Amino acid sequence: MKSVTLKKSRDYSILHRHPWVFSGAIESSNEDIKSGDTVEVLDSKGSRLGFGSYSKSSQIRVRMLSFGAEAKVPDENFIVSRVAEAVGRRASFFGDGETNAVRLINAESDGLPGVVADYYAGFVVCQFTSAGAEKWKQAIATALMTFAPFCLGVSERLDIDARTREGLPTEPTFTVLSGAEPPELIEIIEGPCKFLVDVRKGHKTGFYLDQRDARRVVGPFANGREVLNCFSYTGGFGLYARVAGATNVTQLDVSKDALDLAKRNEELMHICGTKMHYEAQDVFSFLRTCRDQGRQFDMIILDPPKFAHSKSQVMKASRGYKDINLLAMKLLRPDGILASFSCSGAIDMPLFEKILASAADDSGHAFQVVAMTGQPVDHPVDLSFPEGRYLKGLVLRRVS
Ligand code: SAH
Repeated sequence: MKSVTLKKSRDYSILHRHPWVFSGAIESSNEDIKSGDTVEVLDSKGSRLGFGSYSKSSQIRVRMLSFGAEAKVPDENFIVSRVAEAVGRRASFFGDGETNAVRLINAESDGLPGVVADYYAGFVVCQFTSAGAEKWKQAIATALMTFAPFCLGVSERLDIDARTREGLPTEPTFTVLSGAEPPELIEIIEGPCKFLVDVRKGHKTGFYLDQRDARRVVGPFANGREVLNCFSYTGGFGLYARVAGATNVTQLDVSKDALDLAKRNEELMHICGTKMHYEAQDVFSFLRTCRDQGRQFDMIILDPPKFAHSKSQVMKASRGYKDINLLAMKLLRPDGILASFSCSGAIDMPLFEKILASAADDSGHAFQVVAMTGQPVDHPVDLSFPEGRYLKGLVLRRVS
């Protein structure tokens, strides 16, 4: 069995079920280990800590699949049962009528490092971002085809930066692994809305499933309000606002393709009364223009892309979050609502609250926190793997 032996005292995190072994923790390893190989992980005394998948070109040299002295070598059956378990944990999503779009596998937190699988109305779209995940992908796709309810096909998105870092191919950008080819656009239901999902060219696997809870919490605040949905993507928060009875909704995103889909999503539902506007612009310059023109809103949603990609970027990202939130706070009418999000894992909720408090100070207004949001239940976080928690949101009300 190929194995890696850890340096003395570097077994702590693995003993506590953290799934990553960094290159610096490894004392020695067999020379012939290839990327994707399953290896036994040993402590400095040669005792088994578990098994994981080896990645030659990543700083995360081993991603653990199983832990403990009693662990067996993970084989295909082991991987298939992990898939079945992950899908089984989402059973309540199927048939509840609320949504037909669900994350089925959330990587490390579901015991399958580097594997993401999202289900859109019968079609599963996966991302395999580590060498170990790549090795098992066909077995995982076949298992998904078997266990995901009403599954018509399983595909893969390959155009992911993480694959480049792992030395994995990124072309073709999309491929079918099992079953049928998905349609160009898949129509999904989410709560009161319908959305078209472009699984080939859309962001992530096509849709921000991780903001489902936030959309549900934030939407109702829009009743009777003039809403600015910044970083709208295909319109999510803005369409919930429309359902809730907003007077006006402006969907603002730099991507014209995203807005085109947002318009089509609007047409999927026959609701009158809300005036919908679309602005293909940079959010920062749009907010500044509004400030200069004295334009105001009753509700602003800020759901930007990740500002901090690592711990070293936290300072700069904090300034970015503060700037944009300050701009938004100044555009809010009295009693206005700000729903603000961060998907930077390196910025946790306490820090995010501090950033918003500092922006509020500078805005000259007082705010209350009226709701907090995070990842929905289909994006669980293993308690031993805090890196899995990245998404947070605060809904604020301007009170003076
Ligand atoms: N709120 C959305 C997801 C937002 S994802 C939902 O619920 O589905 C972030 C979006 O920000 C992407 O659509 C991206 O195109 C957009 N974006 C990134 N930088 C931007 C900028 N500077 N100005 C405007 N939009 C931007």
